[in-house]
Amino acid sequence: LPVIAIVGRPNVGKSALVNRILGRREAVVEDTPGVTRDRVSYKGEWNDRRFTLVDTGGWEPDARGIDASVAAQAEVAIDLCDVVLFVVDAMVGATSTDEQVVRMLRRAGRPVFLVANKVDDSRQEPEAAALWNLGLGEPHPVSAIHGRGVADLLDDIMKVLPTVSAVAKDEVGGPRRVAILGRPNVGKSSLLNKSAGEERVVVNELAGTTRDPVDEQVELGGKVWRFVDTAGIRRRVHMAQGADFYASLRTSAALEKAEVAVVLLDVTQPISEQDVRIIDLVLESGRALVLAFNKWDLLDDERRRYLEREVEQDLAHVAWAPRVNISARTGRHIEKLVPALELALESWDTRIPTGKFNAFLAELTAAHPHPVRGGKQPRVLFGTQAASRPPTFVLFTTGFLDPGYRRYIQRRLREIYGFEGSPIVLNMRVRE
Ligand code: GDP
Repeated sequence: LPVIAIVGRPNVGKSALVNRILGRREAVVEDTPGVTRDRVSYKGEWNDRRFTLVDTGGWEPDARGIDASVAAQAEVAIDLCDVVLFVVDAMVGATSTDEQVVRMLRRAGRPVFLVANKVDDSRQEPEAAALWNLGLGEPHPVSAIHGRGVADLLDDIMKVLPTVSAVAKDEVGGPRRVAILGRPNVGKSSLLNKSAGEERVVVNELAGTTRDPVDEQVELGGKVWRFVDTAGIRRRVHMAQGADFYASLRTSAALEKAEVAVVLLDVTQPISEQDVRIIDLVLESGRALVLAFNKWDLLDDERRRYLEREVEQDLAHVAWAPRVNISARTGRHIEKLVPALELALESWDTRIPTGKFNAFLAELTAAHPHPVRGGKQPRVLFGTQAASRPPTFVLFTTGFLDPGYRRYIQRRLREIYGFEGSPIVLNMRVRE
């Protein structure tokens, strides 16, 4: 899907605009600065056009951090999104931070919409018009809270939004798209350098700036892969604060472009909350997943026993993901990533014909019927695979299935069909 990013200083109304675009009722909130929202990407729709909306504003820094935070948002938006909405508070006018971001955005080569927010009625339109001098073209006056102007804005966005994401290179048949993820120092750059070789072309797209290419083609195991957002790996961002948010934002946006994620774990360190959070971002994105245990050369027997226990405890929910043990620094066994990636992608692409799937359901429900709840026993009438990438099934039932029973169905699906490396989505339609 094409990706739209929302960028802007704190308090200009980015979340209100996100809610308005998504058509959510709940009022916005978060007048408290410093609130971190984990979620950054949402599925939206306008006039039958679907898109992903990335809200880059989840980290509200204190006054000293604002420039860094907004610059980081703009950088991610430019690298990883198709269209950028730059939100300015029309009642405040353009600040020096806004001007700084504008300089970045003008070099971006992506469509940028200047959104003048908080124009709650027509008498305030002149304030919006004053933003012409930012040099980003015509300001779009809106009131995110009241909805004024938002429909016109979306109509204008749809005119330039590509049907197929240019950044995600949605075309079929090209190299498969891999995101290399992991917390700092797990060995992402080492893996990239070993796979890609140290030399590479540095594209000098912009006068006076040397930009890293956002993606790189890498040959591994005799096949060409597209490693997405390698710019995010090569660029070492040092931020006094907000580095976690920046990393999550970059990870989420990179996942939009990827088909499969390789999450690197450092075997010399305990599995951390941050590792698990990154894996959860992959699950939420619906991408295929491979786990790579890196720095295997440093593993001793004692640590190895702990590691096995940690994997059992902390990674039980992704026991279906292929695992490879590698050493990115020496390059040892990195070619083993290839069969793991291929397996995960094959699962991710799998389609089970409806007849087969219903035979599977019939057998499963006969062998292990749903427990009776309050005198009722929900039955599965029929099922079908509605989509692949990831495999998404819909069950038509006579009542809500217990979470335990749904997990049982998932487990059986994996036992019979494998699906190694791919999440499975199970939806229900209840017919009374
Ligand atoms: P990144 O932050 O995830 O990109 O991590 P780097 O690739 O920069 O690696 C962080 C540090 O770990 C560097 O000092 C690497 O040399 C080291 N390192 C990475 N992979 C391995 C490995 O497989 N074995 C060993 N011994 N060191 C590694």
